[in-house]
Amino acid sequence: MSKRVFNFSAGPAVLPLPVLQEAQRAVVDLPGAGMSILEISHRSKPMEAILSEAKALLTELLGIPAGYSILFLQGGSSLQFSMIPMNLLRGREVPADYVVTGTWSTKALQEAQREGKVNIAWDGKSHNYSRLPAADELKFSPEASYVHCTSNETIHGVEFPEEPETGSIPLVCDVSSNFLSRPMEVDRYGLIYGCAQKNAGIAGVTVVIIRNDLLERTPKGLPAMLDFKLQAANDSLYNTPPVFAIYVFLLIARWLKNDIGGLAKMARANREKAKLLYDVLDEHPEFYRGHAQPESRSMMNVTWRMPSEELEQAFLKQAQARGLVDLKGHRSVGGIRASIYNAMPREGVTQLRDLMLEFAHQHTAKA
Ligand code: PMP
Repeated sequence: MSKRVFNFSAGPAVLPLPVLQEAQRAVVDLPGAGMSILEISHRSKPMEAILSEAKALLTELLGIPAGYSILFLQGGSSLQFSMIPMNLLRGREVPADYVVTGTWSTKALQEAQREGKVNIAWDGKSHNYSRLPAADELKFSPEASYVHCTSNETIHGVEFPEEPETGSIPLVCDVSSNFLSRPMEVDRYGLIYGCAQKNAGIAGVTVVIIRNDLLERTPKGLPAMLDFKLQAANDSLYNTPPVFAIYVFLLIARWLKNDIGGLAKMARANREKAKLLYDVLDEHPEFYRGHAQPESRSMMNVTWRMPSEELEQAFLKQAQARGLVDLKGHRSVGGIRASIYNAMPREGVTQLRDLMLEFAHQHTAKA
């Protein structure tokens, strides 16, 4: 194998090597099936076993209580931006409340606006989404259809330490970029959704965890593929699901349980990795200007600017030469973004930290 770089991409993103190796084996020979994972029928016994183990492990890892359904859907999180208001808002008088904390929640909001009444409970645009709202800044409507928030804004690098309290109003949360990075109290949520290609596998499958009473909201007449109730009744097998992506999701769930030891341990490792980088930002505030305000910092996507775009380019070049790749920030924030998902080894983050320290010393001494 060519030298494996440290891939800081925001997604599709780094995967654990043992998962890739197991997936590689299964591409030729799925254990016990006598054929490849790419060849099995979605209605076969091996697929039944894959689906049921994937759901059981997810239930165990997140502690999902009874009364929720797990769906494996296609169309990415972007389709959920539409599917959620179609199912939970269409035809209702009361608005849905959206907490707008960055690019992704803005997109979710725009899709919901096509479906029905929407209230913006908070919008962080005026400071380019560098912080999250305090509880007393949120303007919820009484009896909203649901409250939508994005637990981690992948582009801006802001993450709720805990999503807002919404009482009896269903909380709907896009967890795409911090799914399975830490434990969650699932019973606080009406619906949780996340595409797999950051922390939970590869592109092609989106996991939806929905409280069963919300399935009853689905209005009549939705296209079958966009109907939560129908998808749940068919146990994600209404049509051909993305078999291989679900298999990789299962391998990730096994890795989290058996190799990592669960989500509390994963969260601890993630916090330690993030601290390595945030400590550098805090020690060199003149040179590295973190985008996120400290109390809103993401444990998954660390974003910062440097004194000039030339220095940022030089930094990216040096990083690339050391095998630290895909660190360029999104154009709406600029600068650098280090995505340090579950599978990013601590060694990769340590090497990035060392480069940051060296680079700051080199260029501060010259200034
Ligand atoms: N939400 C968040 C927080 C994301 O980071 C992304 C993808 N970067 C999406 C939604 C959209 O996901 P997809 O590309 O699977 O539609």
